[in-house]
Amino acid sequence: MRLLIRKARILDPSQGLDLEGDLLIEEGRIVALDREIPPPSDCEIFEAQRLWALPGLIDLHVHLREPGEEWKEDLETGTTAAAAGGFTAVACMPNTRPPNDSPEVTRYLLSRAREVGRTRVWPVACISKGQEGRELAPFGELKEAGAVALSDDGRPVADSGLMRLALEYAASFDLPVISHAEDPGLSAGGQVNEGPVAARLGLKGIPAEAEAVAIFREVRLAALTGVPVHIAHVSTALSVEILRRAKEEGLPVTAETAPHYFTLTEEAVLEYNTQAKVNPPLRTEVDREAVRQALAEGVIDAVATDHAPHSPLEKEVEFPAAAFGLLGLETAVPLTLNLVREGLLSPLRFAELLSTAPARILKVPGGTLKPGSPADVTLIDPDLPWVVTEEELHSKSKNSPFLGWEMRGRAVLTLVEGEVRWRLR
Ligand SMILES: [Zn+2]
Repeated sequence: MRLLIRKARILDPSQGLDLEGDLLIEEGRIVALDREIPPPSDCEIFEAQRLWALPGLIDLHVHLREPGEEWKEDLETGTTAAAAGGFTAVACMPNTRPPNDSPEVTRYLLSRAREVGRTRVWPVACISKGQEGRELAPFGELKEAGAVALSDDGRPVADSGLMRLALEYAASFDLPVISHAEDPGLSAGGQVNEGPVAARLGLKGIPAEAEAVAIFREVRLAALTGVPVHIAHVSTALSVEILRRAKEEGLPVTAETAPHYFTLTEEAVLEYNTQAKVNPPLRTEVDREAVRQALAEGVIDAVATDHAPHSPLEKEVEFPAAAFGLLGLETAVPLTLNLVREGLLSPLRFAELLSTAPARILKVPGGTLKPGSPADVTLIDPDLPWVVTEEELHSKSKNSPFLGWEMRGRAVLTLVEGEVRWRLR
């Protein structure tokens, strides 16, 4: 089958392209990209005036809850939400039940992805067995089974010596390491950002330092070992400063943040709103502004969602008992587009943050529209207004602090290897 996407605004950071043009897809690959392509015979045409065509978006940080917590999400609903959000690939974190610390779990995820997945699924395996921080997982076997990266996400690796060993060992398998940067002693018992809001609510706070000291450790371990490290969900101004210095030093450190950190502040948890309870916690306006600037300046490399579904069983309870986490896959595009509308990001930088950079960090295919590449393509209507409702969301869970929000911008077509995986109405 041939598909010609006509007159889109083509945004491809891998080639530095921002032009109005056509994209021809044949047998799952991009075969041509030009200002005008005469329609070949036997060709479906998709008119894309005013739409943006990007290399398929890649979310390098999601929780699909399978295996073990399928009442919250499963591989099918999670990847459906991903496709609806414009993502053609997601990297799934290993804090499942059991955790992905064995080739059996990795292989299970990949076989489920082949059966029911709407997007590509890149399994991230554990750094330590059982995520217990004591003994390294079998990196070689995990890589052979199909894991693309390592992380104990959800739990920090508390032992610095073990983290050093993990970096050195991961390098021999060319597996990227993703750090959930949190000092567990400093964050212990914390519910929200430490500060006046925590005091007002009578909840224990998590200081910005819990994240910052852990990031500083990773930066120094990257310097010590020469091995790259990727920092997950950066939320504070202090963290941004540490990353800025590390990059100035030329250290191999990359970082992501999530849309909620550049959209919301700790004020969102006032009135004990458990939908906004997330780890790391929502921070202050100063932090939010620092994260926004860091995205514009390149101190933060990528936007990931940290999509973390929870059912009402885990959320409709009193605040201290509620689980951390919120949905991200279907609201990432409009929330990140807000930064484009505010003049902070160019459309090309938007595509870089959501596609090209995640592909580079994970070392997976994608992030490009170069002819010859698999046709993973996302078409976005950057101005389409819509309202976030439970009915609009495809996740099994509905724990979004953005329910009821009026959004602008949405994926209208998501193609994986040229196949339609999502089409808006
Ligand atoms: Zn995490």
